[in-house]
Amino acid sequence: MHEDIQEILYTEEEIKTKVKELGRRLSEDYRGLNPLCICVLKGAAPFMTDLVRSMDIPLEMDFMAVSSYGASTKSSGVVRIIKDLDASVEGRHVIIVEDIIDSGLTLSHLIDLLRHRNAASIKVVTLLDKPGRRTVDLQPDYCGFTIPDAFVVGYGLDYAEKYRNLPYIGILKEQVYQQQ
Ligand code: 5GP
Ligand code: MG
Ligand code: MG
Repeated sequence: MHEDIQEILYTEEEIKTKVKELGRRLSEDYRGLNPLCICVLKGAAPFMTDLVRSMDIPLEMDFMAVSSYGASTKSSGVVRIIKDLDASVEGRHVIIVEDIIDSGLTLSHLIDLLRHRNAASIKVVTLLDKPGRRTVDLQPDYCGFTIPDAFVVGYGLDYAEKYRNLPYIGILKEQVYQQQ
């Protein structure tokens, strides 16, 4: 285990099993619909690539990068698009693939945006959910694990761009951010 990790929450094996199960459910629900899976960069990248490989139906992938504004403007739910989608979502059955839902602000803005672009349907799959921190009324349609209010890293999730490549999900030691 990495020395900055206090505790492993989900091992590589546990994540694998969960992602396969989510992929199976999505394949059943989206058979014949050719869904457009939208990965919210960068955190959801490992989840997205594993998830689509456990879906045995035709689908398409696209990628988007967004950034939340600072705390003072966050309550407005405004996010900045850093990288937009390549293709139109009009008439498409969209699956937004997220790493974690915290306040839910980023995601609720993204859903509004895709709605305005006339997606046929929009659903959300998140690997992790922290419902205790929600400030907007938003439930994921598919969720891997519900976690308590702790700062986690690994399997795509970062702290200052580090730890994304850890194969497990763990709680970061508090002393790591206190050093900053
Ligand atoms: P929100 O739902 O508050 O708009 O923001 C979600 C984003 O906050 C996630 O995509 C992620 O970048 C970041 N985030 C929230 N909780 C955590 C966490 O526990 N660990 C990490 N690494 N990022 C988090
Ligand atoms: Mg995310
Ligand atoms: Mg981050």
